[in-house]
Amino acid sequence: MSKQRPVDPAESRRSISRRQVLKLGAAGAVLSALSPMVAAEAIAKDPKEKPKGFPVYALVPASALGPAPNAQGYHVGQVERNLYWVTDGTYQAAFLTTSDGVVLFDAPPTIGHNIQRAIDEIANANGVSNRVSYLVHTHHHADHVGASSLFGDDVVRIGHEETRRLLLRDNDPARPAPTETFSDRRTLEIGGERIELAWHGPNHTPDNSIIHFPDHDALMMVDIVNAGWVPIYLVNLSEDIPGYVAASATALTYPWTTLISGHVGRLGTRDDVVMHQQYMADLDASIRTALQTVDPTPFFVNYGANSWAAIKGYLDAAAVAGAAPVIAKYTGVLGAADVFTPSIAFWLMESIRLDLGFGSFVHP
Ligand SMILES: [Zn+2]
Ligand SMILES: [Zn+2]
Repeated sequence: MSKQRPVDPAESRRSISRRQVLKLGAAGAVLSALSPMVAAEAIAKDPKEKPKGFPVYALVPASALGPAPNAQGYHVGQVERNLYWVTDGTYQAAFLTTSDGVVLFDAPPTIGHNIQRAIDEIANANGVSNRVSYLVHTHHHADHVGASSLFGDDVVRIGHEETRRLLLRDNDPARPAPTETFSDRRTLEIGGERIELAWHGPNHTPDNSIIHFPDHDALMMVDIVNAGWVPIYLVNLSEDIPGYVAASATALTYPWTTLISGHVGRLGTRDDVVMHQQYMADLDASIRTALQTVDPTPFFVNYGANSWAAIKGYLDAAAVAGAAPVIAKYTGVLGAADVFTPSIAFWLMESIRLDLGFGSFVHP
């Protein structure tokens, strides 16, 4: 595994206007959703004037970064033929232009109104309809579909039956529930295009589904592999860790060349999925070693009757020990390995202990 050339901060400063968009376009989009004023100020700041006192992390490898967003904060690109992807640098959506209007896949609120701008840009260039007729959901999470209501009541919303159940439960006006659902598999034929939807069991969420574009050599699988980056907190905030780990192998059973992973700023490849699998496998092995070598006794001796303090001390120590060699191996290889691996290690460790029963012992 070769380490990638890190982004040179001096180079960033030299071309700050483009770099600001590249680096803060992503953060800026997320920040804009939180506070447009704060975002504008943050983007305008020279990196030399950034506030002090924050944790310092390794540089993100150049391989993790994607194309620079435009002045409006998005990048739209062709995946293959009439399949396109749009990103703000942090989130991704996709769309197909067809003779029956546009089929949109996810609607992240951080991209928001830029989704329609990206569609307009492509539709104008190609002389095709810019009307979004269908919206297909990967899963119910607000950060991936919170711009759904922008597309009105007439759009046909399609998603897994569990996506519908969860969105009805959540009752969020920004995310109307899909009216067309499927349970395991469904093939959509829209405007002459074929789209295969498949649910392979719970993983990141109970409803997270795979979208295969067999005639575009592409797969959309969101919140499993972040191409070029490690997952975020708690194994990408996942609810079913064995299902999450299995999802990458499932993705590789499909024929495709391009992965639309929902994050971060670039498209993915099969090699990105294999790299992610290796990262998770290395972390799994390292955690098992930690569970066998970190001694819980001193924590219980120290905290006495405060069992929770002892448990926290021990499990935190085991997660830190499990994460350490993996951080060392993947720093400079995957973005933010040093930022999130401890949290990922903790949640993976809990699954290894509680789902898989590793390290369990029965009182003699
Ligand atoms: Zn999600
Ligand atoms: Zn996500």
